[in-house]
Amino acid sequence: MGKVTGFMEFERIEEGYKPVTERLKHYKEFVIGLDDAQAKTQAARCMDCGTPFCTNGCPVNNIIPDFNDLVFRQDWKAAIDTLHSTNNFPEFTGRICPAPCEAACTLNVNADAVGIKSIEHAIIDRAWAEGWVTAQPAIHKTGKKVAVVGSGPAGLAAAQQLARAGHAVTLFEKNDRVGGLLRYGIPDFKMEKSHIDRRADQLKAEGVTIRTGVLVGEMPKGSKVTNWAKETISAAQLKADFDAVLLTGGSEQSRDLPVPGRDLDGIHFAMEFLPQQNKVNAGDKVKGQLRADGKAVIVIGGGDTGSDCVGTSNRHGAVSVTQFEVMPQPPEVENRPMTWPYWPLKLRTSSSHDEGCERVFAISTKEFVGEKGKVTGLKTVKVEWKDGKMVEVAGSEQVLKADLVLLAMGFVNPVGTVLDAFGVGKDARGNAKASVDLVGGYSTNVDKVFVAGDMRRGQSLVVWAIREGRQAARAVDEYLMGVSNLPR
Ligand SMILES: Cc1cc2nc3c(=O)[nH]c(=O)nc-3n(C[C@H](O)[C@H](O)[C@H](O)COP(=O)(O)OP(=O)(O)OC[C@H]3O[C@@H](n4cnc5c(N)ncnc54)[C@H](O)[C@@H]3O)c2cc1C
Ligand code: SF4
Repeated sequence: MGKVTGFMEFERIEEGYKPVTERLKHYKEFVIGLDDAQAKTQAARCMDCGTPFCTNGCPVNNIIPDFNDLVFRQDWKAAIDTLHSTNNFPEFTGRICPAPCEAACTLNVNADAVGIKSIEHAIIDRAWAEGWVTAQPAIHKTGKKVAVVGSGPAGLAAAQQLARAGHAVTLFEKNDRVGGLLRYGIPDFKMEKSHIDRRADQLKAEGVTIRTGVLVGEMPKGSKVTNWAKETISAAQLKADFDAVLLTGGSEQSRDLPVPGRDLDGIHFAMEFLPQQNKVNAGDKVKGQLRADGKAVIVIGGGDTGSDCVGTSNRHGAVSVTQFEVMPQPPEVENRPMTWPYWPLKLRTSSSHDEGCERVFAISTKEFVGEKGKVTGLKTVKVEWKDGKMVEVAGSEQVLKADLVLLAMGFVNPVGTVLDAFGVGKDARGNAKASVDLVGGYSTNVDKVFVAGDMRRGQSLVVWAIREGRQAARAVDEYLMGVSNLPR
C-alpha cells in the first residue's frame, strides 16, 4: 500500500475530455489521460484492502492493489508486468471497459472509488511509449495446430495465449481486418484502431498466422451481418487440418423490431450503420454510405451500441438525435450500501450523450410510418412496468418525426449456420453450449471443438471476452498436451 492516508487526503480525479465543439469535428479519441503525477496520487487512494473486492469485480481478475502500489512508487515497468499477467490487452479495457472493478472498490461504499480504469490506461499507454510491449514468442514448439475462428477480443486473447504455449495458431476472420466488434462496432472516437493493429503485429511476431477475409462455414442468405470474406473454408476441412478448433465468432445476430412498417427505407440495424463509418475512418470507400447528415435520427435502444449511434450521428451532422429506452429512467445515484460490491442500476450518461441527444425513457414503438416507401416517423406509446410486465399508458400515443431509425436493441445470439456447420449444440438462447468448469470447460459436444466469448456467453463485454479467450486457451492447451501452464 503506497500511502496509508492517501484515501483521506486525495479526491478522485476523472480523466478529462476535449471540448464537445472540437471533438465533434473528428472521429479520433478525445479522452485526456492522467499524467504521471495524477496517476501517482490516484494510486495513493487505494487502501490495499485485505480482501480486494475490485480484483473479484474485474472479470480478468486484474491484481489492482499491486499495480496501484507500483504506480504510487513510480515503478511503471513492474506495473505493466503485473497488469499483463492477467490481461492481454489493457489498452482496450483501459479505454472502453465500464469498470465493474470500481463498483466493487471498498471506497465506493461511502466515497468515490479509486479510478482504477484511468490508472490501467496510464500504465499501458506508458508501456507502449517506453517500448516495453514486445513479442514473446514461445521457445519450444509443440507441433500442434490450432484454428481460432473469429478475431474479436476473445479470439485475439486466445490466439496469443496458445501461441505463447508453443502451438501453431491460425486465426481466421471473415471481415477484412481483425478485431471483431472492437474494429467494426465500437467507434474510433472511443478506441482508435491503431491499438488493434499494434497487437496484430505482436501476434504475428509471436507466430500467429492471421487469415482475414476467410469465412468458416457459411452465412444465412440475406444476412445483414458484416461479412467481407473472399474465401470460404468448410467446418469439415478445418477439423481435418487442425488438432483443435476454437470458435470465437461473437454474437452477431441483431435483435429486430418486427412492427408494421419495418420494411420502409431508412430503418437499419446499428451494425449496418456503425461499421461503415469505421471503414471510412480506415480510408476505405463505402458506396452509398448510410449517413445521418441533415436527418432527424431516432435510435431505439438505450445501451452502449445506441450511445455509439448517437455519437456517430452527431459527427455526421444530424439535425436531431433522440434515443429511446423501453425501461423507466433509473435513479441518478445508486443506493451504495445496498448495491456494493455489485454493478448498480443507475442513470449512465456517456460522452456521446453529452454531445447532444434527447433521451426518452419508458417508450415503446408500435409502428413505423412513412411516405413513398420511406420512413417519416414512429408511432410510439409511453409504457409502465407493473409486476414485471410492460403496460401501455392509455392516451399516450404520438407520432415522432424520423428520417433515419437505428435499431440498437442488442444481439440475440451467434449466427446459427456457423455453429450448425460444426454440429455444435446450443443452449436455450441459441448460444453455443459449453460450461466454464475447471475440467472440461469451453469444450463443446463435438470432439476437439471449443468455444469462447460472446458466442458462448451471449452479448457481453470486451473484458469478459478477454477472460474467456484466456481460459479457453488453457482448456485447449490441456486437451492437446494433457497439462497446461497457462493461467486461467
Ligand atoms: C457498437 C458496440 C459497442 C460496444 N461497446 C462496448 C464497450 O464500450 N465496452 C465493452 O466492454 N464492450 C462493448 N461492446 C461489446 C463488445 O464489443 C463485445 O462483447 C466483444 O467484442 C465480444 O468479443 P468476441 O471476441 O466474443 O466477439 P466479436 O468481437 O463479436 O468478434 C467475433 C469475430 O468473429 C468473426 N466471425 C464470426 N463468424 C465467423 C466465421 N464463421 N468465420 C470467420 N470469422 C467469423 C466476426 O466477423 C468477428 O470479427 C460493444 C458492442 C457493440 C456492438
Ligand atoms: S479490465 Fe475493466 S474491470 Fe478490470 S481493472 Fe480494468 S477497468 Fe476494471
